Amino acid sequence: MNLKLNFHPEFCQDTLCHSDTALRCGLDNRCPPDLLHNLGRLSVLLGDIRQSLKLPAGALKINSGFRAEALNAKVGGVPHSQHCLGLAADVVCPEFGCAYELAAAIAQLPCEFDQLILEFGKWVHVSIAPLDQIPRRECLSIFSKDEGYLEGIVKR
Ligand SMILES: [Zn+2]
Repeated sequence: MNLKLNFHPEFCQDTLCHSDTALRCGLDNRCPPDLLHNLGRLSVLLGDIRQSLKLPAGALKINSGFRAEALNAKVGGVPHSQHCLGLAADVVCPEFGCAYELAAAIAQLPCEFDQLILEFGKWVHVSIAPLDQIPRRECLSIFSKDEGYLEGIVKR
């Protein structure tokens, strides 16, 4: 596949692969070349979100973007997480509001996310669909693993 790599300048490869945990634990968290096209599409979506919400550069913060399998295991990510495919990022934006407010605002945008998940009231997981799939624009919330996923962006 010969896809042109296109990154939003703010959400570059280094930013999306950065992980304090990986650095601390000496884990290689570079994105493999065959997944870079995913990461590029994710980058463009994050740029769209940031601009659509009229946020200044730097306001939308990436808590976790790409995760190599070793890092994903270390941070307790679900197996086969979309983070491991370069399809997902966990974001926060204190300048905009709490995680609920950010998730609720992104849910209103016409952008093509696959899943938007308000996670534990603390951050927002946003993902893109794999290239061969149509974005679902699915909105979910999770507050505890026992309770599981709830439909919609839920305020609590
Ligand atoms: Zn996530």
